Amino acid sequence: MSNESLANLLKEERRFAPPAALAEQANVTAEAYEQARADRLGFWAEQARRLSWHTEPTQTLDWSNPPFAKWFADGRLNVAYNCVDRHVENGLGDRVALHFEGEPGDTRSITYAQLQSEVSRAANALLELGVRPGDRVAIYLPMIPEAVVSMLACARIGAPHSVVFGGFSADALATRIKDADARVVITADGGFRRGKPSALKPAVDEALTRPGTEDVRSVLVVRRTGQEDIAWTEGRDLWWHDLVDRQSDRHVPEAFDAEHPLFILYTSGTTGKPKGILHTSGGYLTQISYTHHAVFDLKPESDVFWCTADVGWVTGHSYIVYGPLSNGATEVLYEGTPDTPHRGRWWEIVQKYGVTVLYTAPTAIRAAMKWGDDIPAGFDLSSLRVLGSVGEPINPEAWVWYREHIGGGRTPVVDTWWQTETGGIMISPLPGVTATKPGSAQVPIPGIAATVVDDEAREVPNGSGGYLVLTEPWPSMLRTIWGDDQRFLDTYWSRFEGRYFAGDGAKKDDDGDIWLLGRVDDVMLVSGHNISTTEVESALVSHPRVAEAAVVGATDPQTTQAICAFVILRGDEDASADESALVEELRAHVAKQLGPIAKPKRILPVAELPKTRSGKIMRRLLRDVAEQRTLGDVTTLTDSSVMDLIQAKLPAAPAED
Ligand code: ATP
Ligand code: MG
Repeated sequence: MSNESLANLLKEERRFAPPAALAEQANVTAEAYEQARADRLGFWAEQARRLSWHTEPTQTLDWSNPPFAKWFADGRLNVAYNCVDRHVENGLGDRVALHFEGEPGDTRSITYAQLQSEVSRAANALLELGVRPGDRVAIYLPMIPEAVVSMLACARIGAPHSVVFGGFSADALATRIKDADARVVITADGGFRRGKPSALKPAVDEALTRPGTEDVRSVLVVRRTGQEDIAWTEGRDLWWHDLVDRQSDRHVPEAFDAEHPLFILYTSGTTGKPKGILHTSGGYLTQISYTHHAVFDLKPESDVFWCTADVGWVTGHSYIVYGPLSNGATEVLYEGTPDTPHRGRWWEIVQKYGVTVLYTAPTAIRAAMKWGDDIPAGFDLSSLRVLGSVGEPINPEAWVWYREHIGGGRTPVVDTWWQTETGGIMISPLPGVTATKPGSAQVPIPGIAATVVDDEAREVPNGSGGYLVLTEPWPSMLRTIWGDDQRFLDTYWSRFEGRYFAGDGAKKDDDGDIWLLGRVDDVMLVSGHNISTTEVESALVSHPRVAEAAVVGATDPQTTQAICAFVILRGDEDASADESALVEELRAHVAKQLGPIAKPKRILPVAELPKTRSGKIMRRLLRDVAEQRTLGDVTTLTDSSVMDLIQAKLPAAPAED
């Protein structure tokens, strides 16, 4: 791509109209925006009819005690029934719900009828363990079908689940078990990761020695890896295959109030201490089901959906479990990493199952870019028709690469902005309606109200930046922080009166489309100018030699903060030979793209960047490095040795100008 077209990308000038065939058949058309604008609550009441209610709600929103919302409060439903049984009753029992692909290559296809039996057995097992509605169950599993079954079994009996990502340590697990006061833990002997079995049960054993975890009565263990000599606590530990398999495969689902708690989930921990976000049933399922249908244009009879997230993150909760299954979709569940046993593994899976809709994160797209275009080119990806992105701002260059090299230049790319707290997608193009712009999440979906405000809470005009806020309650909103209403108020509702503040910076372009600019905590102040990390990173990634970039503002005596960039080079690029020349070239490139004020003072080529286990760049740690401070909390980091490598690079003299 020429430098000129890149500059155009960054200037928001490029657009891709929806493919005509897709637009003609689209699940949702432009009318939905009109309808929701005319009657927002009526719009959501209509979406609630996507679900099967035991008692139909007559109320939509109760906002009498803001910001504590109640949606569809007099309705009653069973979430698991909506995700499983009703499809079987509708004659779809033989449809595949899950195509499971284990990392070692073992596979299992599970139909909706089989899922109904599995979930019923697991629900009966939990009841035998004494789990009652309202009791919390911690789930600490690899990406195997039992993870989905466990979540649905909890939902079925009204026991809120707290899924803890399988890569977290015993400490992180203990904190979460304690905070939620869990009664049962569901785990496995281990899972397969990068070609090897990786144990999970020892972390549970260790976590349960910590004070505050005494209420855990039972640990239910799935045999996945068959590792030998597992420590066993008699009377507490039970094998899944002993307890669950002997249960009846009949269980009659009971209805719960729409506001019955469905799950607690801790945020990814990019910024600091994780918060236990509480989601409830009816409103959550309404918005998740609707957004999965609308944003991915999901056709359950013909699509094969694949969300590559882990079930331990909200993306996995909403778009592996509750969205696709409530819509009766067929989906892929993959246990392993994208590069095991080879770097084409994902594309091989797309080809094998004929995946039509792929939902992944910028970190994975940038890794694929770095590994080289020839890898996906070796597979037949022609089944794909919609691509999605979530988790971080997607650099325009990565967006275009994704569309070209994965989507064959045909597929719409939907960049979806949302959070653990919002439960479901909030800002995103619709694939059959929106002319997409690389790098922009663009517009709130129908029924959602979001805008960008300045310090004084005034809406900014088009062409300006500020803070992203949500101005009206939405069905899948968090209800509180588990056990801490005050923290809920302080964190989200105190900065701007009556509005939910998301913590992200954003700008509106000349068309009023929204661009996410990164977390406000990360925004840099350089000689009196606010500069967005995302914009400088995107400018760096638009250089042909850069695959990924992270930018921070480090305290500087002359300019308040100085821009310090860490870059990963593409493919087999080796910077050691011409590092200083390359650094100069990159600095000049950013200055040309964004102006001299945004020119980084220092640029360090590195092999890896510090990331959370969900793949997000942890800029606060890079700031610690750039300011030569002791590192802050690193417990949510994937690989802490990355920080040693980066620190070792630092003594290099800063570039001067
Ligand atoms: P913590 O809240 O503990 O710091 P976290 O914010 O990373 O962790 P999540 O709820 O998983 O936890 O992530 C939500 C955040 O991810 C958003 O607030 C935003 O910063 C970022 N994000 C998600 N999707 C997008 C997107 N499409 N574009 C830009 N940023 C995004
Ligand atoms: Mg957050």
